[in-house]
Amino acid sequence: MKDDIAPHVHDITRALGGRVSELEIEKELSNYVNVYRVSLDTAKRSIVKKHGGNPAHLSLGVQKTIRELAPGENSVDLLARFVSVNEKRIDSENGPRTILYGILGDPTATVPFTAWEPLPFEPARGDVVRVQNAYTKEYRGQVQVNLGTRTVVTREAADALPPAPAAAVGGPAPAVVARATPAKIVEMREGSSNVAFTARVLAVERREVDVEGGKKAVYSGVIADETAKSQFSAWKDFDLHEGDVVRVEGAYVKSWRGIPQVSFDERALVAKLADADLPPLEELGRSPRMWIEDLSERGGGVDVTVRGILIDLKEGSGLVYRCPECKRVLRKGVCRIHGEVTGGPDLRVKAVLDDGSGALTAVFGRELTEGLLDKTVEECIAQAKEAMSQEVIRDDLADLLVAQPIEARGNVTSDDYGLMMIVDQAKVLKVDVREEARVMLEELEGPA
Ligand SMILES: [Zn+2]
Repeated sequence: MKDDIAPHVHDITRALGGRVSELEIEKELSNYVNVYRVSLDTAKRSIVKKHGGNPAHLSLGVQKTIRELAPGENSVDLLARFVSVNEKRIDSENGPRTILYGILGDPTATVPFTAWEPLPFEPARGDVVRVQNAYTKEYRGQVQVNLGTRTVVTREAADALPPAPAAAVGGPAPAVVARATPAKIVEMREGSSNVAFTARVLAVERREVDVEGGKKAVYSGVIADETAKSQFSAWKDFDLHEGDVVRVEGAYVKSWRGIPQVSFDERALVAKLADADLPPLEELGRSPRMWIEDLSERGGGVDVTVRGILIDLKEGSGLVYRCPECKRVLRKGVCRIHGEVTGGPDLRVKAVLDDGSGALTAVFGRELTEGLLDKTVEECIAQAKEAMSQEVIRDDLADLLVAQPIEARGNVTSDDYGLMMIVDQAKVLKVDVREEARVMLEELEGPA
């Protein structure tokens, strides 16, 4: 037994980042398995959880739940049900052959799969299967399970998993389950899959994008519900038009250019609803007011409004010169990529905006900055020449903006450096945002 469990002891220790000694883990594991008679899977997961670790970090012969899957895993075991299974003819190096694709589900989530080899039995929708040694990849922003030559698939008793909910009736394809997780747009997070939502299409356009093996049409634009707006991409023509109210089941969420975006494809169920099911276009088209803390938790947002105090003007604000090649702001006449170049003048503000719940970097472009200064870029160049310093413009902006309450509207992106808003509209406010922030904090923390 000791030899049998040694690799699993290593696995647990590694999943716990070495916080607990192997000796202790070995004792616990042996107890769970031999004394309490729980399965090795359950024992390993319980021990990791007990010590504050994440069972998803276990890698050795441990069955995972679908929700725990991440892209790029090389050896995945699952107990799952075929929610849907379809055949497809593809051209391979060895001529045409048939592969299977569809959706696997367990009580935690569903995931698309592709079986590149024939299965040892005729698979049917609803079958419960044990999958060993599968691998995962990322495909169009969501995890996909691949069953390859090393993968073993065996059929299990139907009651090995709770029954699947009845699939939606009357949809265009039987591919997607009803177990889609309902979500408001404001709740959508990068990595969510099989999401169900109702939204109104605010804008949509057809684009062609390069994908493996040629061009593909994608229908993208902006959708909104009462809570927020989101960019979306539909990888199939669902005949969407501006103003349509749609119900989508089986969407997934992926960050695109630093903002969570909703995507759906031929596996999704898309139905048009009555116009009255959501507020009208004009209402949903407004920019929702959000707290920076919520934007931070959400990972950015489309067309949101924040109110805060501009607490600092960052370096690179004011009159700047940009590289003619790449538009990067020059430092002392030098582009980071193209070296010494003759730059073109521009005006911008990079400022820290704080609303009491958090802070973001707000970037104001030339037009907004000209408006704030009430000067054109040419006037700023003349002023800088006279003062023999570019800094004079930055100082003017600091006098105007620092410590002022500001309302700013725009897209907020999120990356390793934090949140950044590309400001579309801004105004200096008269309201007391400090007071608002204090009220919000009191609401969060309760009265003192
Ligand atoms: Zn450059």
